[in-house]
Amino acid sequence: MKADKIDIVQRRVDLMAKEGVKFVVNANVGTDPSYSLDGIKADTDAIILACGATKPRDLEVPEDGSTFCQGKKVVVIGGGDTGTDCIGTSIRHGCTGIVNLELLSEPPRNKGAEQPWPQWPRVFRVDYGHQEANAKFGKDPRSYEVLTKRFIGDESGALKALEIVRVRWVKDSGGRPRPEEIEGSEEIIEADLVLLAMGFLGPEPTVAKKLGLELDARSNFRADFGRFSTSVEGVFAAGDCRRGQSLVVWAIAEGREAASRVDEYLMREEDGFNGASRGAGGYSTF
Ligand SMILES: Cc1cc2nc3c(=O)[nH]c(=O)nc-3n(C[C@H](O)[C@H](O)[C@H](O)COP(=O)(O)OP(=O)(O)OC[C@H]3O[C@@H](n4cnc5c(N)ncnc54)[C@H](O)[C@@H]3O)c2cc1C
Repeated sequence: MKADKIDIVQRRVDLMAKEGVKFVVNANVGTDPSYSLDGIKADTDAIILACGATKPRDLEVPEDGSTFCQGKKVVVIGGGDTGTDCIGTSIRHGCTGIVNLELLSEPPRNKGAEQPWPQWPRVFRVDYGHQEANAKFGKDPRSYEVLTKRFIGDESGALKALEIVRVRWVKDSGGRPRPEEIEGSEEIIEADLVLLAMGFLGPEPTVAKKLGLELDARSNFRADFGRFSTSVEGVFAAGDCRRGQSLVVWAIAEGREAASRVDEYLMREEDGFNGASRGAGGYSTF
């Protein structure tokens, strides 16, 4: 929905292919024996990990497994970009109602002085999903300061509603903000389908385990910004797998910077600083 797949995405892929990048699709590195990390390490001089942060955050309540939106009342939990995409997709798939629940408070209409450029300002935005909801159902689907308590099923176990409670944000004894439930504000919302869009908890663990990589406190691959080298010699990391779930502009910038650092690393190898070069070298993209 966001970037044209032919004129933008495929054009860029074609340009990179013409420059000599070899793309191998359906290659589950670290799991598929044809793409083992030991094999890739043996065949290459440097690896850049750009695996994204795709491990989803879960909600500790039972849920319905169906994902068809047609004719359903949909509740999206989480008010970020993923939540917006879930709203837009549900509407385009023919849902009959859409509600978007967010635990945090509604952001201010303008950015504060404590958010100078280039920080990502936390401001209220009306994105395409909200506009489409407005056009179809006559109102913005978002509801802030809401905590989901439980999912309610019918006799067959299929989802029919969820119980929510309103919260207010208070500071705990250490000064950290925490949500406090507002007594008596419990409510039941009808729902046939719930989509969890509550962020991600870092990269999938397989690659890090097999390479023996150090992780940071948020279970991302540990690699300093600017250097991008991980705790394993010749292995670099860039984008969401290094910085946690973020933005496309950061992924592009980190990818380019990491490529430069790998270039320096390989040139040092060529000059003999890092010992003998292993084979023909060059980059591999997986
Ligand atoms: C639903 C959604 C909506 C978003 N909306 C926006 C938005 O509007 N604006 C914005 O700026 N950002 C948005 N983001 C965030 C943005 O998509 C990411 O910040 C960005 O894509 C990160 O790029 P990346 O290259 O680091 O990782 P990714 O784009 O996640 O790419 C990682 C790739 O690595 C592959 N991979 C992972 N493990 C392996 C393996 N073992 N073997 C082989 N391949 C592997 C994955 O399949 C994937 O293709 C959104 C994210 C989501 C999920």
